[in-house]
Amino acid sequence: MSEMNRREFLTLAGGVATVAALGLPEAGLAASGQPFVLAPLPYPANALEPVISEKTMGFHYGKHHLTYINNVNTALALPANSQFQGLTLEQIMLKTANQAAFSGLFNNSAQAVNHEFYWGSLMPQGGDSAQPSGKLLTMIDTAFGDYAAFKNKFRDAAVGQFGAGWAWLVEHQGKLEILTTSNADNPKTRGMKPLLTIDVWEHAYYLDWQNQRKDHVQAVIDKLLNWKAAAIRISA
Ligand code: MN
Repeated sequence: MSEMNRREFLTLAGGVATVAALGLPEAGLAASGQPFVLAPLPYPANALEPVISEKTMGFHYGKHHLTYINNVNTALALPANSQFQGLTLEQIMLKTANQAAFSGLFNNSAQAVNHEFYWGSLMPQGGDSAQPSGKLLTMIDTAFGDYAAFKNKFRDAAVGQFGAGWAWLVEHQGKLEILTTSNADNPKTRGMKPLLTIDVWEHAYYLDWQNQRKDHVQAVIDKLLNWKAAAIRISA
C-alpha cells in the first residue's frame, strides 16, 4: 500500500464513515504487493448507470484496467526492471516518470494508479446530489468563484483535452486547481495532490456516448463525482 493510500485508509478506518459508504476503493489495499492484483470496484458494476453502463464497466474495469496491471507484472519479471521489485504501483509510477527507458512501465503503472483513483472519484448518487461543503466548498469558491463555475470549468477542461487523457481536480500549494494530463500522466509526478479525476480516454465513454464527450463529462460531473472522497483526500 502506498503511503498516500495507507494514510487515506487509516483515516477512513478511524473515522465515522466506512470505506464502502464513501465509495472509495477498498483496495489501495489489494495494490499493496507484487504481483499486483485488480482491486475490487467500490460499487456494483451497474451502479453508475445510466451514465456509465455495466457493459462499459465490464470492458473498462474488467479489460483495460486489468491489462494495465498485468502489463506491470509482466514488465517487473524482466531483469532490466529488477530495481522496481518491492515497490508499490505509485512508487513505480513516480520513479519511472519522464524516463524514456521506462516509458512502458510508467504508462502501465500510472494507468493502474489512475484507474483505481478514478473508480474512487465516482459514486452512485454523487455529483449534485452530494455537493461539496465545508472547507472543500470554501476552497472551490476561492479558486473558481462557486460550485457552478467550477462545474463549467471542469467540464470545459475535460472536453478540451486533445485525445486521450484525464481531467483532474487537484490541491497544489494549499489551493485547488483544474488540470488535464495526456495519456497516462498523473498530477503526482508534478507534486500535486489529486482529489478527483475524470477519464476522457474514448474507452471510458464510447460504448455509451459515442463521440459525445461533452455530454458524458457533464453527466459525470452532475451525477457521479464523489465529493465525500475529495473531502477526505483534502484533509489527508
Ligand atoms: Mn480508462
